[in-house]
Amino acid sequence: MVIIMKKQASSEDINHIKVKIEKLGCKVHTSEGESCIILGVVGDTSSIDTGIFEVEESVDKVMRVQSPYKRASRAFHPSDTVINLGTTSIGGNNLTVIAGPCAVENETQLLTIASAVKKSGATILRGGAFKPRTSPYSFQGLKEEGLKLLKKAKDLTGLPVVTEVMSIDQIEVTSKYVDMIQIGARNMQNFELLKAVGKTDMPVLLKRGLSATIEEFLMAAEYIMASGNEKVILCERGIRTYETYTRNTLDISAVLAVKKLSHLPIIVDPSHASGRWWMVEPLSKAAVAVGADGIAVEVHNDPANALSDGEQSIKPEKFTAMMHSLSDLAKIQNKTLKVD
Ligand code: PEP
Ligand code: MN
Repeated sequence: MVIIMKKQASSEDINHIKVKIEKLGCKVHTSEGESCIILGVVGDTSSIDTGIFEVEESVDKVMRVQSPYKRASRAFHPSDTVINLGTTSIGGNNLTVIAGPCAVENETQLLTIASAVKKSGATILRGGAFKPRTSPYSFQGLKEEGLKLLKKAKDLTGLPVVTEVMSIDQIEVTSKYVDMIQIGARNMQNFELLKAVGKTDMPVLLKRGLSATIEEFLMAAEYIMASGNEKVILCERGIRTYETYTRNTLDISAVLAVKKLSHLPIIVDPSHASGRWWMVEPLSKAAVAVGADGIAVEVHNDPANALSDGEQSIKPEKFTAMMHSLSDLAKIQNKTLKVD
């Protein structure tokens, strides 16, 4: 349920309604709309009569929210959420470009790629230190050693860094070195992990599960937000379908659906969606064209010898060229991406 206050409602009026909500055993989620305050009622509202709020002078409208997610819902927070991250921010008029290798492999590899993507205008550096691999025999990541290298790359380039955590015990050490935590597709419904990152104050990049519906995706965001962390960025990275030509099927319409249903920023990962390097630029353009808040792409200086996902990684030169076309395209969505 959301309660839209009248423009002229005073802070005493708002407080009075908040107390009334809390007396019903519910929590209040306050958001400032363009011209009024919106109070979200979080909890079991099924037996609450909307009339008890409608009779109040200061209340403009009371609406029931049908969706099972509340904090993530646009009804609760009509304006787009913008999340600050170091030197940049995600959402609003910014086009975010997260770039870097799939996995941190060694110092030279990471620093070479980090400087290249920074030079071309990337806004955030990515790199996996804990890698979720289908085979237990594949490279599993450098773990804390990888985190230290990410910090080195951050110090060198000034770029904020995002990396994935796969378990609760990896959160503490990871948060010492990086700026944003990634929850990978395979963990989108690891509810204990979602609750744990929800207790931190770090922005969380939440990737859509391999077979998750949009509602399940938003419910996963709700888990993080319900634990106290509202800094969630969603990432559409392709879903499993019957198609085998591409690694996954990029659900580009999910960007539009999420934009309608939620106020959270959403970016697109064309690398994991397609599994093919030559699809990365056209799919990135598609993402920008539909209004995504950014992209996350894998870049490698030597894809043929990459320890993971070489086939979907673009080379730095390709990345530079792509950035120029994305910067031009961003304008049609009133977004800015600065490239030199
Ligand atoms: C990744 O971004 O490194 C990754 C493993 O992606 P996903 O969880 O989307 O498969
Ligand atoms: Mn990868």
